[in-house]
Amino acid sequence: MVRRHIAGRGISDARVLDAMAAVPRERFVERSLSHRAYADGPLPIGHGQTISQPYVVAWMAEAAELGTGDRVLEVGTGSGYAAAVLSRLAGTVYTVERHRMLAEEALQRLSVLGYGNVRVRHGDGSLGWGRHAPYDAILVAAAGPRVPRALRDQLGPGGRLVMPVGSHCGRQRLTLERRGRSGNFKREELGAVRFVPLIPH
Ligand code: SAH
Repeated sequence: MVRRHIAGRGISDARVLDAMAAVPRERFVERSLSHRAYADGPLPIGHGQTISQPYVVAWMAEAAELGTGDRVLEVGTGSGYAAAVLSRLAGTVYTVERHRMLAEEALQRLSVLGYGNVRVRHGDGSLGWGRHAPYDAILVAAAGPRVPRALRDQLGPGGRLVMPVGSHCGRQRLTLERRGRSGNFKREELGAVRFVPLIPH
């Protein structure tokens, strides 16, 4: 999967490729779907939600330029798969999920698999997780019409925020925002994506 769908489609960061190769995606989907875990597509995880497409997880991780000690906020834990990948690239991953069941299942899965540097919380991720701010990077795994104010506020100087921005049901643009040292934001559009909507509580 990594050679064909990730490196093959242009992801070149060696740390990202190693992290993608190390995380057992079949452990993040139900057993009946495990034969499809290494195809490059989203898969249902219940509650109308999906585990992200591996290529998109790698793309977002590469865009966020994660360093080994970074503190990362993820919005939309889902299965916990992307959080596991991020945990291999950064220092600590704080991830927020609005579905209580998904948050509980992800926490259970991540602890069984030994991802000790991931903290999972049930709540509205569009408000961020103020307690552990500021973050070096914020990755939003659900789409909204604009970057929520609270997330910008919780990004530290020099921080990177990656989020699909656009209409809820159509296609969105994967967007990278960098926070400058003086608090200004620079925005870059990376390409077209399709995510489930970011739903406030
Ligand atoms: N990264 C996940 C996939 C996430 S799918 C994985 O690797 O499996 C998007 C997730 O965002 C869904 O689980 C959805 O419930 C969640 N979500 C949507 N709106 C949210 C919000 N306001 N706060 C937190 N999570 C939210």
